[in-house]
Amino acid sequence: MKPEVLEAYQWPPSTEVIAQRVGLDPRSIVRFDGNVAATPPASARPAALARALADVNEYDRGRYQELREAIARHHDLNVDHVALGAGSDEFIVLLARVFAEGGTIATVPTFSYSMYRYAAIMAGATIVDDVHTADLVFVCRPNNPTGELPDVPDVAGQLVIDEAYAQYAGVDALDRIDSGAIVLRTFSKAFGLAGARVGYALANAELTSVITSRQAPLSVSSLSAALALTALSTPIDVTSALAERDRLARELTQLGLNPLRSYTNFLFIPMDEPEKLVDQLLPYGAVTRAYPGGLRVSVRDELDNNFLLDALRGVLFDTPMPESALRYERNTAETLLRVRLRVLGEGRVFVSTGAGFYDHMLQQLAFHAGMDLRLEGVGDLETGDHHTVEDMMRTFGEAFDQALGDRKGLARYGEARVPMDEALAHAVVDLSGRATASVLVTPDEGMVAHAFESLVQTARITLHVTATGENAHHVAEAAFKAVGRAIAQALVKDGSLVRSTKGSL
Ligand code: PMP
Repeated sequence: MKPEVLEAYQWPPSTEVIAQRVGLDPRSIVRFDGNVAATPPASARPAALARALADVNEYDRGRYQELREAIARHHDLNVDHVALGAGSDEFIVLLARVFAEGGTIATVPTFSYSMYRYAAIMAGATIVDDVHTADLVFVCRPNNPTGELPDVPDVAGQLVIDEAYAQYAGVDALDRIDSGAIVLRTFSKAFGLAGARVGYALANAELTSVITSRQAPLSVSSLSAALALTALSTPIDVTSALAERDRLARELTQLGLNPLRSYTNFLFIPMDEPEKLVDQLLPYGAVTRAYPGGLRVSVRDELDNNFLLDALRGVLFDTPMPESALRYERNTAETLLRVRLRVLGEGRVFVSTGAGFYDHMLQQLAFHAGMDLRLEGVGDLETGDHHTVEDMMRTFGEAFDQALGDRKGLARYGEARVPMDEALAHAVVDLSGRATASVLVTPDEGMVAHAFESLVQTARITLHVTATGENAHHVAEAAFKAVGRAIAQALVKDGSLVRSTKGSL
């Protein structure tokens, strides 16, 4: 018998495909269609994988005992209540087969995560409305795509509560496990590890055995298990994600778009023909998702959400898009850094590479330059902060160079003196297009001079800095602030001319 191809889950097109379709650089595409975290967790660093890589030729015969124990502790349960899988999708498919092969499945609410339907198709099951008679009931709590928090019904069949977004709701139904419910959780959303594909099922010991006896022996990779384990060691904090969601909701309302109340990290905006708006947003590089009766947008971070709002203003009111935040990504063997930079910004800065002191220094520079900067990454700090500092400054310089474009209309020169207690720094900058650094910093905290030299090379600017004092931290801080202040002056728009008798910089 030749097996037929089933109707299966459809991924939206890749960023590269979308970019090509709308004629944009893939780096200027922002995805609001995945409901994932805006950035990887700080714990996702090469060091987290080192041990797993050293043993990657081996199977983990203990089936990731340490991770299962950590999950059990996280929920105050026993380790025999935990089954691990490649994403919670693995369990959705498996549970449909185990509990509803050829039978019936109901979902709560009826308009819910599409995977339940595909799982039903794979199991030869029929989707029905009546939760009381179905063999299996998936409760999506909170619900994708509407963001609502449905009540958990009492049912006769097997109850599965999908809590993919529970951290955002701040409530769970783990107390139903004792009475035979299965709860599904994932590392894909609040933990920021969607690409790692790790999910888990929580159930009583008997049901857990039923589940694991039907799984492939080891469906999670050791690398993913290692990432999940380190992620668990840092408590999840969704406070800023929720504040940002509520801000986005308010701003959308101001635009006449009224999202439903959300218990998740996404918003559902009821409307007719949402496909139209999805298509209109694409040329701006904003990818959203249409559902019957509404548009779903993931909440990302402030810079990204502002980008979405700007794109929406463009579509709805023909407002021209402001100078867009530039995204830039740099990959070396040592570091992976992502940058978003709006040169003429409002001083909204966030720098996190793990090189704490220099993160703070670059933050000072960008703030005093009046930029919006978000630079995040994963550096190789095991060998000291040299690689990371050099790469963060080079990456920032590259993004700065790109953002300056043809450098037209800029004042070009800037100068500033900044004291910090006993230390005094003097910086003069020329956005010349030529990379020259003259840096005299005494005492140098370690890498101050090298950091400026790295920046100068890629930003293609001329920079003179002198800074002296007693305390190396004060000297460094005064120097970074002075450079920021000098850059702010040089960035002032003072016409449309290129400030060079040669006509170009
Ligand atoms: N459940 C719900 C409600 C979801 O929205 C998703 C992801 N879109 C999943 C489960 C699957 O998550 P994963 O397989 O990445 O764990």
